[in-house]
Amino acid sequence: MEDTFRHKGLRNRLVQEIAGKGITSEKVLKAIETVPRHYFFDSVFTDQAYADKPFPIGAGQTISQPFTVAFQTQLLDVQPGDKVLEIGTGSGYQAAILAALRTRVFTIERQRELFRKSQQTIALMGYKNINFFYGDGFDGKASYAPFNRIIITCGAPFVPEQLVDQLSIGGIMVVPLNDKKNQVMNRITRLENGSLKYEKFGNFSFVPMLKGTQ
Ligand code: SAH
Repeated sequence: MEDTFRHKGLRNRLVQEIAGKGITSEKVLKAIETVPRHYFFDSVFTDQAYADKPFPIGAGQTISQPFTVAFQTQLLDVQPGDKVLEIGTGSGYQAAILAALRTRVFTIERQRELFRKSQQTIALMGYKNINFFYGDGFDGKASYAPFNRIIITCGAPFVPEQLVDQLSIGGIMVVPLNDKKNQVMNRITRLENGSLKYEKFGNFSFVPMLKGTQ
């Protein structure tokens, strides 16, 4: 794996592009600029890595569009040292972005092939603050709860109750919730009095959140 000046230039252009589409968080843009997205692609496809598009990563899944990763990360509003639970490791790219923001990442994937491959990619990149789990994200990870932040990177049919239970007071969950055709981005905040605040942020398209493992 090599990160050339050409790759860095392409990343810089990608950052300009997603900033133009409305991403304003300097630290999120910086993270996108820092993490080599082409490391998450099979070597024959690395040319595709800096288009603002989703791309197949095997097992019928996709690496999310950079704009979508940036949008969810911006809504998540992480602070250094936060414990962040991610549902849907996929390629590992979103986990790397969260790690670059100096959070402690706990990420769950239900597809064994992706669980294996994402760990190899991340190991080569040298991030130490990402913990990988194979399992069904609907269950969350009670043994490591509570989490300051929870991000779901697949289209959820409903807000998984276990995940809400694992969110700390003041914690934020970002979850694309199924509508008829696509998903609506929701941000759920657990308030001091324990109640939940819901906010909606437009339509997106995700692969489905599915039960069980494969
Ligand atoms: N965050 C990923 C996006 C991958 S696409 C990235 O940066 O590349 C969403 C992923 O969610 C897929 O890999 C899919 O297998 C996974 N997924 C779907 N349902 C799940 C569940 N119940 N638990 C864990 N992962 C799930």
